[in-house]
Amino acid sequence: ATTNAALLARKNAAVPRGVASAAPVFAAHAENAELWDVEGNRYIDFAGGIAVLNTGHRHPGVIAAAKAQEDRYTHTSFQVVPYEPYVALAEKLNALAPGDFAKKSLLVTTGAEAVENAVKIARAHTGRPGVIAFSGGYHGRTLLTLGMTGKIAPYKKDVGPFPSDIFRAPFPDARNGVTVEDALKGLETLMLTDADPSRIAAMIIEPVLGEGGYVPVPAEMLQALRAICDKHGILLIADEIQAGFGRTGTWFAIEHSGVVPDLITVAKSMAGGYPVAGVIGRAEVMDAPIPGGLGGTYGGNPVACAAALAAIEAIEAEGLLARSTQLGETFRARFAEIGARTAPYRMWDIRGLGAMLAVEFVTDFDMATPDAAFTKSVIAHALKRGLILLSCGMHGNALRIMVPLTASDAIIEEGLAMFEAALADAIA
Ligand code: PMP
Repeated sequence: ATTNAALLARKNAAVPRGVASAAPVFAAHAENAELWDVEGNRYIDFAGGIAVLNTGHRHPGVIAAAKAQEDRYTHTSFQVVPYEPYVALAEKLNALAPGDFAKKSLLVTTGAEAVENAVKIARAHTGRPGVIAFSGGYHGRTLLTLGMTGKIAPYKKDVGPFPSDIFRAPFPDARNGVTVEDALKGLETLMLTDADPSRIAAMIIEPVLGEGGYVPVPAEMLQALRAICDKHGILLIADEIQAGFGRTGTWFAIEHSGVVPDLITVAKSMAGGYPVAGVIGRAEVMDAPIPGGLGGTYGGNPVACAAALAAIEAIEAEGLLARSTQLGETFRARFAEIGARTAPYRMWDIRGLGAMLAVEFVTDFDMATPDAAFTKSVIAHALKRGLILLSCGMHGNALRIMVPLTASDAIIEEGLAMFEAALADAIA
């Protein structure tokens, strides 16, 4: 029988080291919030394939819809012969997104592609080149989106230069001494020194910073950005690729602020494990690029569209938005207990929105000095005990919770017990 070690040796020989895997074990099969490796070891999955599995591994409705679509056709290319699942998903997205105006949706395959297209659409609509992004933001690994991503290692290391006309404003992170007021001052200065507002097409922000550390943007910041965008004719793009589709207790994280963006980028949990992404936006903005100006061979693959419609249906039918809010409360309370009991000087700042939650590990509570090594150790011990965890944050010292919202209370509790034990292992 094959082993994790044998597969890891083959991976290291055949796959470039740049594609680093968090876990040194190989998947055999998975169901809802559980996964088994090729040696038969069982894991509880708190990583959800990087926030893709709000409806769990192999949700029965998603699998049935994908299989039914496979029996009809799997690819025609929407640009050659269009098909209903693409149109139906676009209609659904237009209806779900905030904003009391006509909307249209473009479908692509990956999150980075969605962000690239949002910028193209914003440029075509405004006739302006510039983009403003925020420090710590993550928007993808293609060259334009890497230029917009606000973190060097490991993403941007050695692969520049990046496209021009991308400007960076400070992200409001009060824990690290940047208030909303500071962030807005920084943006104002940027618009005086480098980023001429009359040359800016769009501003893009994650309503809850994802890879950068699961830090929610205060509502007053988003409201101020909306006002600045309106003043200068700049489009506001909400990157909801990680925060969307129920992770924060609403369909889109920006709904918590009441702010309505012009464009929204979506991917990940929209399709319960299938690759489809999109841009949702004001109809007149979305219609700016000329016919043939948008698309791609695989964009809006019919199997992935059918899966997405079923995943959205599951979020609705199973009350997963409310479940997200409730899970967020559970995790907050249990993290506080576990931290106080097991690692009182290590666990700092339990934060997030709904079930999009993180906790940081520090060397000392008062100075809050990031401890990436300890975080790595907790993750490694957790895996040994049967729990899959993933870090995030500018200093790699935050643990984020992306567990399926469909996980039972018993599975969540079992995972939390493993987490507490792993914490004790890492301290010992
Ligand atoms: N934007 C955000 C907020 C993301 O979290 C990610 C993926 N982590 C992306 C964009 C890029 O998505 P993809 O990996 O599908 O290209």
